[in-house]
Formats: sequence, C-alpha cells, structure tokens
Amino acid sequence: MEIILELKNVNVSYDGKQALSNINMKLPKNKITCIIGPSGCGKTTLLKSLNRMIEQEIEASFTGDVLFEGQNTRTMSEEVLRRKIGLVYQTPTPFPFSIYKNMAYAPTYYGVKDKTKLDALIVEKLKQANLYEEVKDDLGKNATKLSGGQQQRLCIARALTVDPTVLLLDEPCSSLDVKSTEKIEQLLLGLKEKYTIVVVTHNIFQAKRISDYTAFMYEAELLEFATTDALFSSPQHKKTQAFIAGLYG
Ligand code: ADP
Ligand code: MG
Repeated sequence: MEIILELKNVNVSYDGKQALSNINMKLPKNKITCIIGPSGCGKTTLLKSLNRMIEQEIEASFTGDVLFEGQNTRTMSEEVLRRKIGLVYQTPTPFPFSIYKNMAYAPTYYGVKDKTKLDALIVEKLKQANLYEEVKDDLGKNATKLSGGQQQRLCIARALTVDPTVLLLDEPCSSLDVKSTEKIEQLLLGLKEKYTIVVVTHNIFQAKRISDYTAFMYEAELLEFATTDALFSSPQHKKTQAFIAGLYG
C-alpha cells in the first residue's frame, strides 16, 4: 500500500480550544478515505490540515508536519501545495459567471494560453466529472443557474483542471437529494483510479458505499482508522461501535 499523505503529530486549536489532538494518519494512494464522526469533532479541521489551508485561518494555530509523497510540505510553496491537493467545499461554490469561465479560470491563471488546448482540457475535465453531456450545448450558461448537484460536479471538474493528485471534499452531498448524491458517489468511485480522494461525510452509509478506508474522529482525536470493512464489521472502540450503530450523531 503506497502512502501519499501523512500527518505527524498534528495539533490545531482555535483561540486556545483544541480542535485536533495529536493526529497521526497515513492516507493510501488512489483510494477513497472517508472521515466520519459527530458534529464538531474536527473533521473539517482535519481536512483543511491535509493541505495546510488551516494556516490561513487567523484564529487557528497549527503545529505538526504534513508529508506529501514523503516530502515535508513546509518545503513546498503554498501554490504548489494547493494545486496538488485540491479542496472542494460543502456548499457548491461556482463563480457567478459562465460554466466555461469557471473551468477556464485556474488553467488560464497557470498559463494555458492556447485556446484549442484550453477547450480540450475543459471538455476532458467536464467529462471526468460526469457533467459534460448535461452542459455541452450551453457552456455559456451562468453556473449559478445549474442545479445543486450539477454545481457540485462543476466544482469537482474545476478542481480537476489544475491536475491535482489528491482531492479533498467536505460533505459534498450534504445539500443534495438522493439522485444527485448517487451521481457524485459514482463520480468519486470513477475518479479514484487517477486521484486519491478524502471525503468528510456525516452519512455512515455513504462511507460504507464508497470508501476503502474510514477514519473515525471523536472530540478532536482520531480514534480509529481502518479499512472500511474492518471498521464497520469489527470496530475497536466503544465510541465507534455506538456511532456506527446510530446511537448518537
Ligand atoms: P466538524 O467538521 O467535525 O463538525 P470542525 O472541524 O468544523 O468540526 O470543528 C471542530 C471544533 O472547532 C468545533 O468545536 C468547532 O466549533 C471549532 N471551530 C471550528 N472552526 C472554528 C473557528 N474558525 N473558530 C473557532 N472555533 C472553530
Ligand atoms: Mg465540518
């Protein structure tokens, strides 16, 4: 099993209140890892620590190390780090302009000047995000006019335009209906051949359906990390057992 990202002794506190307590974690490459746990246990904070986005938040204090492909991320530029490890937010956040412009934004910034190349890249990434067929005749349409599920797939497609290695998603289906959720889940399953995917979810059934590994967090700690099969069939901690049995949320 190849490890792509590793957290070593990561601690995060907000104004002195601990949100992550000495996290050590190794993420396997080209797998889907789900992070589950009750509200407020630190899932989003953990996700934002994986690309050190957390350091942008003024009230957060971060210590510890994050290794990406064995390299300490402190030796990497922020730009490279954010590009290699993309983050997709809970609520879809398309820019309020056309689908095409949303998709062209980052690659243009990173220097793709040739229009033919740019168009080909946009088509390729929309296809990867299972959105192309639905929008191909209307790339000029304002992205905010798309349905919630389409907006979320656009955000994933947009994240893919800078050729990341890891994709982090924070409760990507929390505002979506069953059908749109299913589309996102299918999409993520298809993407793991090329990308390593980490998904925060409050839905334990989603974790069961899509993930290879599951991390269970509780009160700022990573209580358990195992293959999804092992975690759900033989949880090691009482807190995990009770959580997956639905005894608390
Ligand atoms: P989760 O995603 O599991 O719901 P979070 O990582 O968002 O948990 O939050 C963990 C803890 O840190 C919670 O107690 C939350 O209230 C607190 N917290 C999160 N963000 C901030 C912030 N920007 N300022 C202060 N406290 C925060
Ligand atoms: Mg959260």
